[in-house]
Amino acid sequence: MKFKKPQIKLKSLKSINYVLMKYFILLASLLILLVEVIFFMVVSSSLESHARNRLTGIGGEVATFMTANDDFAVSGYLRRYRQEGINVVVLSQGGEVLLPFDDSLNENYADEISYIKEQFKDFGGSSLLYSKNNSLNYVSVIDYHGGSYLFANYSLKIINGTRNILLVYFILVGIFVLLAAALFSYSVSQRLSSGIKNLSSTAERFSKGDFNVNFTNSEYKELAVLSDTLNSVRDEVKKSDSFQRELLANVSHDLKTPLTMIKAYASMIREISGDNPQKRDKHLQVIIDEADRLTGLVNDVLNVSKLTSGINEINCKVFNFTEFLYGIINKFEYLQETQGYKIMVDVDANLYTRADEEKIGQVIYNLLGNAVNYTGEDKTVFISLKSSLDGDRIKLKIRDTGKGIAKEDLPEIWNRYYRSRETHSRPVKGTGLGLNIVKIILQNHSFDFGVESELGNGSTFWVDFPSVPAEIDVE
Ligand code: ADP
Repeated sequence: MKFKKPQIKLKSLKSINYVLMKYFILLASLLILLVEVIFFMVVSSSLESHARNRLTGIGGEVATFMTANDDFAVSGYLRRYRQEGINVVVLSQGGEVLLPFDDSLNENYADEISYIKEQFKDFGGSSLLYSKNNSLNYVSVIDYHGGSYLFANYSLKIINGTRNILLVYFILVGIFVLLAAALFSYSVSQRLSSGIKNLSSTAERFSKGDFNVNFTNSEYKELAVLSDTLNSVRDEVKKSDSFQRELLANVSHDLKTPLTMIKAYASMIREISGDNPQKRDKHLQVIIDEADRLTGLVNDVLNVSKLTSGINEINCKVFNFTEFLYGIINKFEYLQETQGYKIMVDVDANLYTRADEEKIGQVIYNLLGNAVNYTGEDKTVFISLKSSLDGDRIKLKIRDTGKGIAKEDLPEIWNRYYRSRETHSRPVKGTGLGLNIVKIILQNHSFDFGVESELGNGSTFWVDFPSVPAEIDVE
């Protein structure tokens, strides 16, 4: 058995590796961006608040120092702040630099002073922290030379420079982490997909007809379940393949025997018994029986293939089940007359059911045929058709007295091509299709059915039918 390769447009499909990597890298980028933006905002705002705190702190430091030191010492003290990048000066009311004593400081702060005075006038207070012209300024009124200003300023360019350096670092770290994430996601996706690739290459070998493949994957739970399922599919296909081979061998063998008989008896009639009516009739009967067997065999094969390919649909109608069953039993009468079979009947009168009459006929023929074939030396078969106590259901039971069916064979007998290894009292020629046909028909009707059997105690096959009033036939 070989499977046709499915026609998948591979080009339009994405590989698992690609999708996994894409989403992992996308997620990693988002996380890196989020962390870096938050970190950058926190760091840069703390840089600025540190500068603010430092500037206001300087006000207090200088005021304390001035009370205990002379101008020269204060001048030196103020210059020290330049190491931190902070310019600290004492300004007169007109904006001239009073301290520190430094010739290079001839800058006039008149504009600044008038801005400060305006602010004090508008908002009151004696100290002010403000940003202006890209620098952070602090001013406080001090008691020096009858009222001066302590003015400290810190260029924001320093903070911006630090920020820029931080940004470069963040970008470099981001790129590095992203590369690491890509590498990691690549190795994870490779590991994940390698299991799937293994299964897929095994499945391809399987599809080419190699039934000895073994699907293995114990690394991931889902793939292990899939492997298990594929292994059982393989077993089923293997079984069905060998069953089909067996059936072909069986059917060809079973076809050959009656054909040989027919040919032999036809030749006998022509050459020997043609003029002897008694012998001729006997020989002709053999030919008729063998032809019947051939027809039965061919019908079984045809029926099962028709049923499974869904050509046969169920056409339900209400019919008199009791009469219908008697009709079938009567056809088995010749067995009673010619071969000593006993068919014991226990049937309730006028039971009506709703089903596909023709197909239910097939079911009963097959069950009755099996019972006749497999019953014991007493050649007795029991048929009962009984209404349930509430009158809702009808139970058909067909019992024989044969060797029965082994417990382990019970679930198997309904499978196509199944024939038990058990030898029966009479050599039985079958195809192993009969019960499969029964199963398909009853399942199509959604009727319950089953078998009760014990080795040595015969078998009882039963089917549960709905009981309907005679008049109603709802389509
Ligand atoms: P077959 O054509 O071989 O009878 P079936 O599908 O009708 O095929 O039955 C499948 C197998 O089930 C038979 O080969 C036989 O082993 C077993 N079986 C069916 N009916 C009976 C029965 N009444 N008693 C014992 N065994 C049975």
